[in-house]
Formats: sequence, C-alpha cells, structure tokens
Amino acid sequence: MDSIKIFSPATVANVSCGFDVLGFCLDSIGDEMIIHKTLEKGIRITKIKGAELPFETEKNVAGVSALAMYNAINPDCGFDIEIYKKIKPGSGIGSSAASAAGSVFGMNVLLGNPLDKTELTKYALKGEALASECEHADNLAPAIFGGFTLVRSVDPVDILQLPTPDDLYVTLIHPQIEIKTAEARAILPKQIALQNAITQWSNVGSLVHALHTNDYDLLSKSLSDVIIEPHRKQLIPYFDTIKSSAIDSGALGCGISGSGPSIFALTKGEKIAKHVEKAFNSVYSKTNIKYYTFVSKINTQGIKIL
Ligand code: ADP
Repeated sequence: MDSIKIFSPATVANVSCGFDVLGFCLDSIGDEMIIHKTLEKGIRITKIKGAELPFETEKNVAGVSALAMYNAINPDCGFDIEIYKKIKPGSGIGSSAASAAGSVFGMNVLLGNPLDKTELTKYALKGEALASECEHADNLAPAIFGGFTLVRSVDPVDILQLPTPDDLYVTLIHPQIEIKTAEARAILPKQIALQNAITQWSNVGSLVHALHTNDYDLLSKSLSDVIIEPHRKQLIPYFDTIKSSAIDSGALGCGISGSGPSIFALTKGEKIAKHVEKAFNSVYSKTNIKYYTFVSKINTQGIKIL
C-alpha cells in the first residue's frame, strides 16, 4: 500500500471537570487526509482544502508531528500529505489535534504499524505544541485512542482509555466568534481555592467511575466545573442560557468544549440530543452571531481508515 485515506475526528477536551486531562471523540465531524508514500525523502504538505493554513511543513501542525516521527524512525521513503479540513481551526473541537494525529497515524499504517498509539501520541504532541505553545494531549488522545480518554501524563506519555456507555450522545454548538487559546488561558487564575480543588477532583473520580459502571445519574452529577468554566464562560455569548436550555431539554450536563467557543452537551440517547439541538437553535437563532450545531454519537474507534 502506497497511499491511505483517513477520517481524523473532532474531539471535545476537558469535559467540564477534567481540565487538560479528559476528552472524548466525535463521529459526525472530522477532517479527511490522504497520505502518500514517496520515493523522494522528506515530508511535504501538497494540498490543503477547506481552510487557509500554511503549506510549509514546519508551520503546519500535520507537518510538525510528521517530521518528529520521521526524524525519530528515519524510514527509507518520504511522505506527501493532503489535508481536507472540515473542522474549522480555532473552533475548540480539536482542529489542530486532528491534523497532528492524522499525519502520524497515516504514516504509521503505510510503514506497517511499527509504532503503538502511545508513541503516535508522543510525536503528535510536537505538532499540537505548534498550535498552542505547550504540549497537551487532551484532544490528541481521544482522536488516536477513540472514546473517552484520560491523560495521566504527557512526559512520559501515559493515556488511559475509559469505557464509553452505549447510549451516550453529544450535541454541539459552535458560535462562530474568535477566542484566542492564549486569551482563554490568560483569563484563568494562577491559584485556586482548596475547597474548589476538592470538589473538582471528586467530580473527575466520580465521572470516571460513572463511565465504568454505565451510571448516567452519576455521570450527570459529575459534569460540573467549579474552576475553569466560571472564568471562561464570559468569553462565550449566551453561555448560561445555552447551558440551562440543555439541562431543561434533558441533557446530562453541558460545558465549554476545550477552550471554546464551542459548547457541548452530553445526553442519554439520540432523541434527547436532538431536543437539545433544537433548544440550542432557538437560543442562537435570535442572535446575530453565526453558528452551527450538530449531534454525534461518541466515536469509540478514533481515526478511521476510509
Ligand atoms: P482548535 O482547538 O480548534 O484545535 P487551536 O487554536 O488549538 O484550535 O489551533 C488552531 C491553530 O493552529 C490556528 O492558529 C491554526 O492556524 C494553526 N494550525 C496550523 N496547522 C494547522 C492544521 N493543519 N490544522 C488546524 N490548525 C492548524
């Protein structure tokens, strides 16, 4: 095999209480990428459709992660990368992570899978660092491993794959406003109250337990963020109204996806997810902010070969 076409999914990081450690993978939105093995050595980005992004290998996250892997294993060939962007950069659903993970995943398959998912994450982190100026794997891990993941550590890379309850759906709204990741980070306090830390880590623990035991009530109680959301929500217009509309429509919980501006709600079943989508639409259609919404099942596979 000399070429491979893949679906590299969007992801939701943080999942309310799990800032920088929890994430899950989406099914209905993702980039497509085609990777070609070439006789000419090196890594080239040869096509980008759907977004204005740099073609220079060192300036595109897909190129940076590919180079990190390429330089480490020094294969006897090169790679051309085509990117068909469906995830808007800066939307808060892991646009850069999809590119960073997709290139290393595709190269690995074309080389006969010499690397495991943990090693792929290690190289993808180099690409993700280009977009966010720090190595974080909360979007990369669910894209590469699928389902829910917990990043226990990035150095060394240690990812825990968590179980996904069968009937779990997500509704997402992306208000098309710009929030710079740097601004979303700068707004956060440097120190937090011990009582808030206690609440937060009890919720992370109970959320993990809820996933293991299929306990939707416990999952709902655990989807709470007393540390990050109170600060970041002011960057997202109508956040409180969206959140209460989700809960009133039967969602298990609702929070900021990554650093925003996208907002996610988790639901038991597709029917409730669609109710929530309707509620999101009725809030935002009254504003003059451009937005889109979608419903997705949790993608337990991660990146898929097409
Ligand atoms: P998201 O949370 O949606 O991934 P980020 O702010 O983390 O958004 O990343 C987007 C940033 O990464 C933008 O500045 C974009 O120009 C840059 N970037 C570089 N290469 C890519 C790529 N292949 N895909 C997406 N973003 C890229």
